[in-house]
Amino acid sequence: MSISKDVAKVQPSATLAMSSKTKAMIKKGVDVINLSIGEPDFTTPEQIKQAAIDAIKSGKASFYTPAGGLPELKQAVCDRIKLEDGVEYNPNQVIVTDGAKFSLFLIFQVILNEGEDVLLPEPFWVSYAEQVHLAGGNAIAVKTTGKDHKVTVADLDRSITPSTQALVINSPQNPSGLVYEADELEAIGNWAVKHDILIIADDIYSNLIFNGHKFTSIVTLGDEIKKHTLLVSGVSKTYSMTGWRIGYVLGDEKIIKIMNTVASHATGNPAAVSQYAAIEALTNDQSDAKKMRQAFEDRLNIFYPKIANLPGFDLPTKPQGAFYLFPNVKKAVSLCGFNNTEEFVNALLEEAHVAVVSGKAFSQPDNIRFSYANSKENLLEAYDRIVKFLNNHG
Ligand code: PLP
Repeated sequence: MSISKDVAKVQPSATLAMSSKTKAMIKKGVDVINLSIGEPDFTTPEQIKQAAIDAIKSGKASFYTPAGGLPELKQAVCDRIKLEDGVEYNPNQVIVTDGAKFSLFLIFQVILNEGEDVLLPEPFWVSYAEQVHLAGGNAIAVKTTGKDHKVTVADLDRSITPSTQALVINSPQNPSGLVYEADELEAIGNWAVKHDILIIADDIYSNLIFNGHKFTSIVTLGDEIKKHTLLVSGVSKTYSMTGWRIGYVLGDEKIIKIMNTVASHATGNPAAVSQYAAIEALTNDQSDAKKMRQAFEDRLNIFYPKIANLPGFDLPTKPQGAFYLFPNVKKAVSLCGFNNTEEFVNALLEEAHVAVVSGKAFSQPDNIRFSYANSKENLLEAYDRIVKFLNNHG
């Protein structure tokens, strides 16, 4: 029995690996505080759950839907994007998929030929590179030299190759929580238009913006930029719906149509019940989503100053979005006598029972990622445990 060479090269997701290790410890009865996981800790709002129950009971969730999603869900996606970003799409420019993760997977399958390149500004989310590899492409890590390590046109100029097809921009960013300003995005967008490169805008955290900062989607910065962009988003993070698996892409009708064809052979359709739940989430009362956003903001305001002031932790800029902190811990690792960040992260889990993810998973091995999608009590307890851990090793 043999395995495809391309598939054999794919690395397991480090975030999921950390989370399984943590869950195994918790199952054994160890009191671990899990700050490794990239999902909201709230359950889905009641009205959304009720819409799903109604869809099951009425029987309408019993059947296949069109592969790219129910027409009314595609319309709901267009309406929400119009409301939030002020840009127009029609339902033929939308595909609904099993989570934004599968949206991205499909995009790379559809746009890449063997050996073509995708630019990934560092740090980047763990799955982009592996998905590019699975589509036969090359993931090109772009060293970032702009403000707060954001990518600049000069960085892109240095990284572009004759085979570059696409560039991924993720704002607010996982793992850093940084948010790109409109002028930064405009420069990137114009660069992509000039070189005829497709922008993949991963806006999945667009509703998790804090302390008065403003979210700008790159698609709002001119018609040409919009035409060159596939906008990826979904309901997972805004509505605490990670388990329901609904994501979507908006963009060029031709690309969307081909994605639709591929999806029709791959998954059929995203679960009908989840689609009905997503329609409710996108179209009706947003007050639960707003409350959850506020809770993340409060937690950021409590947790950031504590983590930023830990000895050997370097995190000069307060993140503006998502629910992560991504300090550089190079000094702390050496102060504690560890050889590398992985050893540090493992000891933190085994001795202090605090789970975080090593930055290696995001191409920055000197950093660690905290998710603050956890209760204030747990965040404060995790902080106390880290202080003790650092004292024990210092
Ligand atoms: N993009 C980024 C940057 C993410 O962090 C995630 C989830 O962790 C996703 C996309 C995918 O989200 P989902 O597949 O739950 O819609």
